[in-house]
Amino acid sequence: MAVRANPNLIDELEHYGARDASKCYQCGDCSATCRLSGDASVFPRKAMHYLQLGLEKPLRSTLDPWLCYYCGDCSERCPRGAEPGETMMGLRRWLTAQYDFTGISRFLYRSWASELAAILMLALVTGAGFLGFGYILGGGNLSVYDGAGAFLPAHDVHIFDWTMGITLALILSINCLRMWRFTMRGEQAAPVSPSQYVRHLQLLPLHFFTQKRFRDCENKRPWATHLVLMLSYLTMLVLIMFFLKEMQSGPKVNWYVHSFGYLASIGLVTVTILDLRGRVKKDEAYHRHSHESDWMFLILLLYVATTGIVQHVLHRAGLPMAANITYVAHLMGVVPMLLLEVPFSKWSHMAYRPLAMYFAALQQAAGKGS
Ligand code: SF4
Ligand code: SF4
Repeated sequence: MAVRANPNLIDELEHYGARDASKCYQCGDCSATCRLSGDASVFPRKAMHYLQLGLEKPLRSTLDPWLCYYCGDCSERCPRGAEPGETMMGLRRWLTAQYDFTGISRFLYRSWASELAAILMLALVTGAGFLGFGYILGGGNLSVYDGAGAFLPAHDVHIFDWTMGITLALILSINCLRMWRFTMRGEQAAPVSPSQYVRHLQLLPLHFFTQKRFRDCENKRPWATHLVLMLSYLTMLVLIMFFLKEMQSGPKVNWYVHSFGYLASIGLVTVTILDLRGRVKKDEAYHRHSHESDWMFLILLLYVATTGIVQHVLHRAGLPMAANITYVAHLMGVVPMLLLEVPFSKWSHMAYRPLAMYFAALQQAAGKGS
């Protein structure tokens, strides 16, 4: 069957951060350098080639960009300055937009002004919503932070969190299904039996919790910081979804719960600052180029983490009114971060990466007939 080319694809990818792919002359040095590339998937050279030819469909069905962890070695080695590592990053953003059935991801990635406007609008709606809720439904007492008569009772915030969490999980699940359809049901895909799906299932939690493949890169530091960021975020998510009442109680510190929150906060703030510093200094190949969405993600994350810490300190210091106001400011960052980043942007990678490892193993097993 004839494969249709999209001559504008390489220009389209520029919006997603792949700016130098046209310089590639297919020497293959990048793939020879990459420790993660192998016989089963030769990247990043193949993806560079597809991109230059405008082969949109094969690119949509490839898992290769998710098998790259952006250590930057290939970009250092490339004799043409074609930035293959950054191209793989750009392809991950593009694929995220392809998987997303709502079109929101495309809208956010292609225009930083749209992303900023969406963040600000959601922040304002959230602030107005929680202030309105606190004043009208919660009794309006800004001087009470927790327990009876609290301005924002933990129970009500908890219901809001779960409603938002379930909605986001549903959207992300649909996007994951689309990823499966593009990558595992294409014309070229070998059929995979249900027993193979079950046999390899353990790869999902393995890659999700350990980011094991990233560790195979020569430079272990990005893997370590990535792991700390991911585990810190997960810890915070578990605390908020299951222990919000304990987290919000006080002013006495509940060490059984709060100590996990402290560790997660330290992890989030430290890694975010290190990443921001690296992007400003451009001291590593993987920090040399930053898409606007990278800055917004990091700034939003830092804002959420620091307002969360300040709110906690104010509450422990016996300043409930200041703690309540900071809590609303904190939620004004949390809601846009979760609503935009989880199903449509950076945090969605937490689902797509382990899925890609799983699918890649299934494709390999199906190819070998095992
Ligand atoms: S990206 Fe660079 S190293 Fe890789 S094939 Fe192209 S020119 Fe060669
Ligand atoms: S950035 Fe690193 S992992 Fe990704 S393709 Fe290049 S060498 Fe391989």
